[in-house]
Amino acid sequence: MGVIFRSTNREVSEATFREVIFKGQPEDYGLYIPTEIPSLSNDDISSFRQKSYPEIAYEIIRCFTEGEIPLSELERMVSDAYNFDVPLQNVHNDFYLLWLTKGPTASFKDFAARMLARMMEYFAKAENRKITVLVATSGDTGGAVANAFYHLENVDVVVLFPYKEVTERQRKQMTTLEDNISAIAIKGKFDDCQAIVKRAFNDRELKHLSLTSANSINFGRLLPQIVYYFYAYSRLDVKDIVFSVPSGNFGNLMGGVFAKRMGLPVRRFIVAVNENDEFPNFLHTGQYRPVVPSRECSSNAMNVGHPSNLARLIDIYGGHLTDERDRETGKVIERGVLKKMPEMERLRNDFIAYSIKEDEVDEVIVRFYKQYKILVEPHGAVGIKAAEKSEERPPIISLETADPAKFPEKITKLLKVEPPLPFSLSGLDSKKEYFEVLENNYDDFKRYLLSKKF
Ligand SMILES: *Cc1c(COP(=O)(O)O)cnc(C)c1O
Repeated sequence: MGVIFRSTNREVSEATFREVIFKGQPEDYGLYIPTEIPSLSNDDISSFRQKSYPEIAYEIIRCFTEGEIPLSELERMVSDAYNFDVPLQNVHNDFYLLWLTKGPTASFKDFAARMLARMMEYFAKAENRKITVLVATSGDTGGAVANAFYHLENVDVVVLFPYKEVTERQRKQMTTLEDNISAIAIKGKFDDCQAIVKRAFNDRELKHLSLTSANSINFGRLLPQIVYYFYAYSRLDVKDIVFSVPSGNFGNLMGGVFAKRMGLPVRRFIVAVNENDEFPNFLHTGQYRPVVPSRECSSNAMNVGHPSNLARLIDIYGGHLTDERDRETGKVIERGVLKKMPEMERLRNDFIAYSIKEDEVDEVIVRFYKQYKILVEPHGAVGIKAAEKSEERPPIISLETADPAKFPEKITKLLKVEPPLPFSLSGLDSKKEYFEVLENNYDDFKRYLLSKKF
């Protein structure tokens, strides 16, 4: 039997892995988490030393998909999805950088999107149905999802992005593909795209399209992110380990938390955030206050003032965090209400959190280039600085979540060098784009969806 899931709000019945993948979010607006987290023995974990990335992915993901995805299928999926390098670079002493940047869109989101795509395709084919994935993006997610689902059967993707608020490279990762990928520029902000997508999911007149979500509320986005924590540990010969995780919606961090629960000897997680400091403040004071509106920092994929995955983290530590909603309409009345406190002592033992300022990011980018000849970008720099501030006992692994060429502005300004384009991004600049521009208006989008021949 596979793992069974429940909602953090506990108002809906339990669900299977397949239901969780298709539904994304339960009807009570909670988040799905496993009722029981599978565990691996020390021997299992030691055996990873001899295994490749796809082999480790297979061993971990099968713990959650037993009985739902045949092992031969799973084996094919992981070797298909993980056909790129995952370098662990030693910087000095026992300090390492894990480069999660070698996938097709040069962001760590490739790890989750590529596996989720293949699992969705498998389930859609098995049930002989067509599904349509809707995804709202502020930049990185859209490209990763579009690339991951490109040319897959039985699945169409519609990506909504804010017309004027993504970089040219980010836009081209979504708009140059065609086939089963459609890109829509909304004349609005990311929040407007997100609101349109959420309404579409709840629209009865769109039921026949089998709409589903690829945002990180979907547990299928977290499961693949457990793997690289085990992988990184398996490349070192150490007793235990500390990870520093650049964090926005806390999806990346949750991968690590599940890895620890499964048996990985993680001594502590360093939660590295930019100037959106709601989580460090919460650990410190026990009071949770979302940052509204979120603060704009150069690590823009982490400009999150109320992380969507925090509800999962709080739940795992015995608490209950939820948005207060109107019973009738589902409209949010108050964000991030702590209905039950988590066990703060355990939380403070497992996590240490730092908010990193913009000038500290600059300092790291300059120093890493001068001292070690290593180019890092703002998200990775937040992780590095937090690791340094923590004074945790090494070994420490800090995650780098994007290729510097994706966020070149700071680097060119500070170092006067152009970050080299990785293979995956080269050629993008000259490709032809296909996308529609729509007003910031739900009815226009709905008309578009209904007129489209999927
Ligand atoms: C999405 C993203 C993050 C934040 O990850 P979360 O899972 O939302 O915490 C960090 N860095 C980059 C480059 C990203 O795209």
